[in-house]
Amino acid sequence: MEYEREAGGSRATINLTSLRHALLNWGRVSGRSFPWRETTNPFHILIAEMMLRRTQARQVVPVYEAFIATYPDATALANASAEAVAKALYPLGLAWRVPAFQALARALVEDYAGQVPNDDSALKKLPGVGDYVAAAVCCFAFGQAVILADTNTVRVAGRIAGVPTNAESRRRKAIRQLLEQLLDPEHPRDFNLALLDLAALICLPVHPRCLQCPIAAFCSSAETFIHDGLAQSQ
Ligand code: SF4
Repeated sequence: MEYEREAGGSRATINLTSLRHALLNWGRVSGRSFPWRETTNPFHILIAEMMLRRTQARQVVPVYEAFIATYPDATALANASAEAVAKALYPLGLAWRVPAFQALARALVEDYAGQVPNDDSALKKLPGVGDYVAAAVCCFAFGQAVILADTNTVRVAGRIAGVPTNAESRRRKAIRQLLEQLLDPEHPRDFNLALLDLAALICLPVHPRCLQCPIAAFCSSAETFIHDGLAQSQ
């Protein structure tokens, strides 16, 4: 499978299969390790994704582990006192989201017998669950081939294709189509994890590490970043 990208002002064709292999291989060796990546429990993954919105993953780890130990399922969270849940979320500055966490748990108990639905539209109707969290749960808990469009993934996709992006790009149809083209339909979970890791470790917002990038050979922007001295050398 191939697609076209910008290269030095002209169009070039690149092999998507090779790009995916390069990214997947890198992710398996150099990707980050987090407790929510070690589980297939949809409720635990949903809680992790709720915590990860606008919060550094490293900060989330201890809070997530303590939270899941105390509230291992939707019923436990729905029955907890608001004060106890607020205390658990306080280190992340998410105490203000206690009503959303508990409304979510109650909706799961009342409408889905405590289970997390494996359907994007059903997930998005749950309290506090937006487009990104619904997609992340569909992919990471249920293995569905869906894109994850946030500031970081669209930055990487835009750079690969030579398309400028900004904070609002995740809503643009063209960028979402680009992410859909890139997504590996056979390994969506591993692909999306690797893309998130590449964005966090290599394709940084400022001064990307193009010289260490596993997909530099497929990227429209690598040459420019390196030529202009904007790429980090290590
Ligand atoms: S080559 Fe550079 S700009 Fe392209 S994806 Fe890799 S780090 Fe990002």
